[in-house]
Amino acid sequence: MTTTGTRLPLIAGNWKLNLDHLQAIAFVQKLAWSLKDAAVDFDAVEVAVFPPFTDIRSVQTLVSADKLPIAYGAQDVSQHDTGAYTGEISGAFLKALECRYVIIGHSERRTLHAEGDDVVAAKTAAALKHGLVPVICVGETADDLETHGPSAVPVAQLTAALADVAADADIVVAYEPVWAIGSGKAATPEQAEQVAARLREVVAEALGADAAAATRILYGGSVKANNIAGFMRQPNVDGALVGGASLDIQEFSAISRFHQHVGV
Ligand code: PEP
Repeated sequence: MTTTGTRLPLIAGNWKLNLDHLQAIAFVQKLAWSLKDAAVDFDAVEVAVFPPFTDIRSVQTLVSADKLPIAYGAQDVSQHDTGAYTGEISGAFLKALECRYVIIGHSERRTLHAEGDDVVAAKTAAALKHGLVPVICVGETADDLETHGPSAVPVAQLTAALADVAADADIVVAYEPVWAIGSGKAATPEQAEQVAARLREVVAEALGADAAAATRILYGGSVKANNIAGFMRQPNVDGALVGGASLDIQEFSAISRFHQHVGV
């Protein structure tokens, strides 16, 4: 199947601040039909959606009632379990809604909400404590790229996030160059592979060789149906974190069906 060996490719759709709970129900239902119609082999790809918090209960009810082969998660989590933290959502609450994943440290959280490496590490710990798989996002800005090269910032961010993570923790890493997010200018597959390979070394240094071999590393940044194939051919790229294109059912379905047009 893929060059990723035993790692199950993950195609993850980050809806950001889009689609209310009624739209979410219709969307997930149509996405499931589209994947089923195309005879997607869910032993060869995992498809996950990351709706806004207010949609998650509706998505849970639909996925559970209709036994849809679609995973879901949240776009953020509090580092706190409970208490006087207005507006925050606990990992315990997400687990109660049977979320499998939670995105942590997306560049929009880092930039718009001033989340530094310390907060990302605390949220990673909170996710793991509650049995959620953190999708830890790292990536350099265009200035970082110019000043430090492609790997330095993502490596530093991931090293900080993994400082207190146990060797057997189930994590996903998303390499998302900030300059590629929403810009229409994706990294080249070779650029993505170069950084993904370096990030796998970071996982090996922090968590050991077994963890490095098992951890899925996604590429994110202007992924579309017409460029997913190049990324999925890379040995260290195990899937994609998709923003804009995840809101278009046909496009996201086509990205999820990368096996049918990638030849891996
Ligand atoms: C993202 O925001 O995580 C992302 C990858 O967005 P886009 O696919 O739109 O570049």
